Amino acid sequence: MTYRIAFVALACLGGVGVAAAAQPQPVPLSAQPLKGGVYWVKGGNGANTGFIVGAKEVVVIDAKTVAESSQAMLAEIRKVTPNPVTTVILTHSDGDHVNGLAGLPQGLTIIAHSNTKKDMVEAFKDPKMSALLPYLPTRTVDGDQSLNIGGVRLNLRYFGPAHTSGDLVVLIPRQRIAFIGDLAFLGRDPLIHRQKGGTSLGLVQNLRKILALDADTFISGHNDPLTKADIRGLLTSIEEKQAKVKALIGQGKSLDEIKTAFGLTEPADPSARRRPGLVEIIYLDLK
Ligand SMILES: [Zn+2]
Repeated sequence: MTYRIAFVALACLGGVGVAAAAQPQPVPLSAQPLKGGVYWVKGGNGANTGFIVGAKEVVVIDAKTVAESSQAMLAEIRKVTPNPVTTVILTHSDGDHVNGLAGLPQGLTIIAHSNTKKDMVEAFKDPKMSALLPYLPTRTVDGDQSLNIGGVRLNLRYFGPAHTSGDLVVLIPRQRIAFIGDLAFLGRDPLIHRQKGGTSLGLVQNLRKILALDADTFISGHNDPLTKADIRGLLTSIEEKQAKVKALIGQGKSLDEIKTAFGLTEPADPSARRRPGLVEIIYLDLK
């Protein structure tokens, strides 16, 4: 489990070009059936993805980190249906969810929140990312939208900034399944990209909205399928941390004192500390 979490931390750096050399070998990629033609794709190099088999088309959700893994996902899709992939929906802009787009055919409809497209435009300015330029979102959404893609009914929901400022939830109402990107992490602190407009207060709002969805299976980027009980537990733990940080700020405590109160210690090697943890993000959000 430690191994898996370490991999997640590496994989979800939020930036794009993920350092391949430092990564452990990922677990083999496989498509796991959920219900009614909906699958989640675990393993490979990158976050969990998913696909929905419609009458004539296939809708994919997210695209792993590298082209080889998204091609392996296509191979899994071909095992279950001859229908072509026509559409990709992106839950957010992190490299472990979008950089594998380069392994998919060009010319697909790519749907994302407009803030996700902005992040991608920015990231793909890096000459090393130029292969991804043909894969910018072709259709952006700013709020909730209902779609019918070749008979696949989907609701895209946007609950405001949380993990990034462009997190989309993909609800498949008939199957009561929701793909929630990186809005939930179990077994480690939630990851919030402040540089992409993410916020811990927004994450709490998002989790409340996710709990209110008419769904019972939640596919996140880096865990096995989650239940409402899992989401509720995560929400409670973040709310408790927020309440504690708020109380300590009220007592005039500094960030360092607050971290100490949470038993957080600075790593001996400062270069190992790559991003602020949840407590620090809550502090920054509340200050
Ligand atoms: Zn992410």
